[in-house]
Amino acid sequence: MVPPVPPSAPTPVPFVDLHLTDDLDDVRQAIERVVASGWFVLGPEVEAFEAEFAAASGAPYAVGVANGTDAISLLLRAADIGPGDEVLVPGLTAAFTALAVTMTGATPVFVDVDAERLTMDPARAAEAVTSRTRAIVPVHLYGRVADMTPLQSVAERHGLVLIEDCCQAHLARYEGQPVGTTGLGGAFSFYPTKNLGALGDGGAIVTASRTVADRIRRLRNGGQAVRNTHEEAGINSRLDELQAAILRARLPRLEEWTARRRALAAVYRTHLPAGVLGGARERAGDVHHLFPIRVPRRHVVQAHLAAQDIQTLVHYPVAMPDQPAFRSARGSCPVARRAAGDVLSLPLHPYLSDAVAMRVCSVVAGAVAVAGEPT
Ligand SMILES: *Cc1c(COP(=O)(O)O)cnc(C)c1O
Repeated sequence: MVPPVPPSAPTPVPFVDLHLTDDLDDVRQAIERVVASGWFVLGPEVEAFEAEFAAASGAPYAVGVANGTDAISLLLRAADIGPGDEVLVPGLTAAFTALAVTMTGATPVFVDVDAERLTMDPARAAEAVTSRTRAIVPVHLYGRVADMTPLQSVAERHGLVLIEDCCQAHLARYEGQPVGTTGLGGAFSFYPTKNLGALGDGGAIVTASRTVADRIRRLRNGGQAVRNTHEEAGINSRLDELQAAILRARLPRLEEWTARRRALAAVYRTHLPAGVLGGARERAGDVHHLFPIRVPRRHVVQAHLAAQDIQTLVHYPVAMPDQPAFRSARGSCPVARRAAGDVLSLPLHPYLSDAVAMRVCSVVAGAVAVAGEPT
C-alpha cells in the first residue's frame, strides 16, 4: 500500500531540470553573437567548437554533426560499412545505437550485456562474430565505461572496426584513456538531457584519424569536398552556428558538472540499500549520465516514489531484440531482458543537492520495503 502524502508535502524532485542557471548569461550572449553575425550553419562557431570539444575530449579531431545517431552512422560509413555487413551492438541501449547501424544499410546483431555494469559483454561479443561481422559498437551506457581492453582484443582478433557510442559519456575515461579514442572514433550527442546539452539537437564525432575526420566533414555536407562537387552520396547532417555557440558557452562548465554527477552518485551509493545497486562495479572514469537501480516489482517502487513527488524513468524498458523494429535481428540477450524488467533511473543532474539525493535514498528504502511486502 502506498502511504498518504504527509501534510506538508516536500518539494517535487523532477528527474532532470533543463532550465539554465549560472550558464544563462553566457548562453544568451552566445545566441546574440550568432544572431548578429548573420551566419547560421557550418561557420566559425562550429569550427571553434570542434577545436574546443576535441581538446576537452582528449582527441586530436572533432567534427560537429546534426545529432548523436548521425555521428554513429557516419563513423560506420567512414569505415565503408553498409549493406551485407553485420555490426555488433549491445542488447541494452537507446534504440538509436542500432538505428544508426540500419541507416547505413548494415544489420545490427545484438550482444548481451555484463550482468553488473550492463555494458557489452566481451565474451558474448566474441561469440557473435561471423564472417560478415565488420564492426563492434560498445555503448558507454549510463556514463559507465564499457570494458574496452577485452572489447579491443575481440576487435583486433577478428579484424573489426571499433566505434564507441559515447552519447552518454562526455569526458568519461577508461583506465585514463578518453572514451572515443581507442578505436576508429567516438560518437557524442548533445541532446538537451545529455551531460553536455544543446538547446536543440546536436552531435559530434571524435577521432585520432585525420582521414576519418575529413571523410566525415565531407559526408555530413552531402558528400561535397568542394562546393558543387559531390564526391560521394553524403547526407545533410550539419551542425548549426546557434547550437555550436551555445555548446561553446556551456563546455567550460562540463568538468564541474561531471564532478557534481560523481559526487551525487557517491551519495546514492553510500545511502541506498545495498540490494538495489545490483552489484554494479564502479570505475573511476564513469560520468554517471544516469543512476539506475535494480528493483523487483518496479512499478510498485516507481508509484511509491511518484506519490512522494520523486520522478523516475526507465532506461530502457525494452531490450533491443524485443523491439518490433528489430524483430528479425539475431542475438538473444537474457541479461539485457532481465535488466529491462527491473532497472529504474533515479533523479540525477548537476543542480540536485546532496540533501535531496539523501531524501531520495530514504524514500527508495521505504518503497523497496513496501514492494517487498506480499500484496
Ligand atoms: C542519445 C543517444 C543516442 C542518440 O543521440 P541523438 O543525439 O538523440 O541522435 C545514441 N546512443 C545513446 C546511448 C544515446 O544515449
